[in-house]
Amino acid sequence: MMIDRGVEMIELQEEAFGQKTALHPVLIWDETSAALIDTGMPGSWERIKAAMADCGVAPEKLAAVILTHQDFDHVGSIEEIRRELGDRVKVYAHPLDRPYIEGDLPLTKTTPEIMEKTLAALPEEPRKKALALFANPPKTKVDAALTDGQLLPFGGGLQVIHTPGHTEGHVSLYLPQSKILLAVDAMMIIGGKLHGPVPQTSLDLAEARRSVAKFLDYDIETVVCYHGGLLEWEPMEQIRRIAAEADRAGKE
Ligand SMILES: [Zn+2]
Repeated sequence: MMIDRGVEMIELQEEAFGQKTALHPVLIWDETSAALIDTGMPGSWERIKAAMADCGVAPEKLAAVILTHQDFDHVGSIEEIRRELGDRVKVYAHPLDRPYIEGDLPLTKTTPEIMEKTLAALPEEPRKKALALFANPPKTKVDAALTDGQLLPFGGGLQVIHTPGHTEGHVSLYLPQSKILLAVDAMMIIGGKLHGPVPQTSLDLAEARRSVAKFLDYDIETVVCYHGGLLEWEPMEQIRRIAAEADRAGKE
């Protein structure tokens, strides 16, 4: 879905933890280059490419992949992208999540030990498949570090907002020109309503809640969440509500 000129929210129907789920990487492009924000699951690249083709963006035009954090459903198809485009594509990530993305440390929330427990209830076949994935998650070399406040040269300027809590190196992104916030996993949308961080998916819930308050400094007309997709309805009011809820919960 095209949400502004040169900004496409891709929808991937995937299966994670044995459940069907929709993931939303974002493609940003202009006449000269394109940047992809997150890469879905292993095996998603062909469908991402098809979505890019629908926007008239050839794979060779992809200059950058921004990995917002280490989770496997974001780093997912990076190895396929590298295989096809090699070092022509520059991979960005925050230094705090870099060793996980590069495979030097096991993914924080999905170590094989954690996954054995998480997936215990799944039937044999999908369980084995998932465990094999988590035993050997996709990894890649990170070419460039993301820092809080940095303005990346995509989409007329793409601002990095470090939003730790979901993982230590989690980043959200803001497009000043079109007032679009890519919250990624700092928030999610369920049933058309914006939701703040929850304990199940937060590495540090208190920090994740503080990160939401950072969004109050921005003029936001549209929010895209990796889980839940697009929110256009009163985004600032909803962010204010979540920040206030988070602030109250933090004081309990
Ligand atoms: Zn995540």
